[in-house]
Amino acid sequence: MGKYAFGIDVGGTSVKLGLFTVEGELVEKWSIPTRSDNGGKDILPDIAKSVLKKKEEKNLSDEDVVGAGIGLPGPVDSDGVIRKAVNLHWENTFNVADELSKLLNGMKVKAGNDANVAALGEAWVGSGKGCKDVVMVTLGTGVGGGIIVDGNMLSGSTGAGGEIGHICVDPSETAVCNCGNHGCLEQFSSATGIVRLLEKEIAANPDEHTLMNEKKHTAKDVWDAVEAGDALAKRVAEQFGYYLGFGLANIASVVNPELIIIGGGVSMSGDVIMPFITENFKKFAFHACKDTKFVRAVLGNDGGIFGAAKLVL
Ligand SMILES: [Zn+2]
Repeated sequence: MGKYAFGIDVGGTSVKLGLFTVEGELVEKWSIPTRSDNGGKDILPDIAKSVLKKKEEKNLSDEDVVGAGIGLPGPVDSDGVIRKAVNLHWENTFNVADELSKLLNGMKVKAGNDANVAALGEAWVGSGKGCKDVVMVTLGTGVGGGIIVDGNMLSGSTGAGGEIGHICVDPSETAVCNCGNHGCLEQFSSATGIVRLLEKEIAANPDEHTLMNEKKHTAKDVWDAVEAGDALAKRVAEQFGYYLGFGLANIASVVNPELIIIGGGVSMSGDVIMPFITENFKKFAFHACKDTKFVRAVLGNDGGIFGAAKLVL
């Protein structure tokens, strides 16, 4: 029985890698650049080279290593088939787990969507430790999601399980989401969504005195202004919370999680964001789901490598 596992988290600019004990202790982490030019053909060979080098450096035998898990920015089904990964310039449908396993001389490999995998990491050793039913929503440039049911990651039949960012929360929205639909949660509750709401609010109230109309703003500026008591920023936060609370209340009616974890860059703004989400969640949630606990993610950018390692354990 092996004692170690590799966790790999592939992003558009860099690949994060970690060596873990089977108990979930991070032994070492490092990263390599993502070479996505040339149709992304070098990405998996680069990863395999880096993993094998570390294995040799640490003097690990084949028996010492349980396997490697990999999280990818695209829909990945439970067999390891990825359909498309725009950021990696991967256009084809292929089995990424089999491909990487070959490059790793037959090492066991499991693959998953990066947001799903991050949720698995948080449920394993992060803020969801000890919980079997967990929903995690990652609020970054976009909105990602992961659903853990009875300890297992939900990938779905085409790998789109947990795609919380693209549930429709406003059918009347006319602006187009990155996915091509209209009214997706991502358009309101991602970092870019918050700035979009802010710009609309400023345009609608040009004469209002606010901390927000001096320059170009980020989502973090909005939360800082909320803490400083700015009325316009508070209205933006209320809209953010309305859509996210509404979306998560509906998810809760399907999954009935013990815990909902809020992660991603937006969650780094601190506890100031939480009441806007939880108050709206309570408003819309089914009575048996109203007391669902909310916490912020604790693994930060490492959630992906932790969850990836857990995939093979
Ligand atoms: Zn969308």
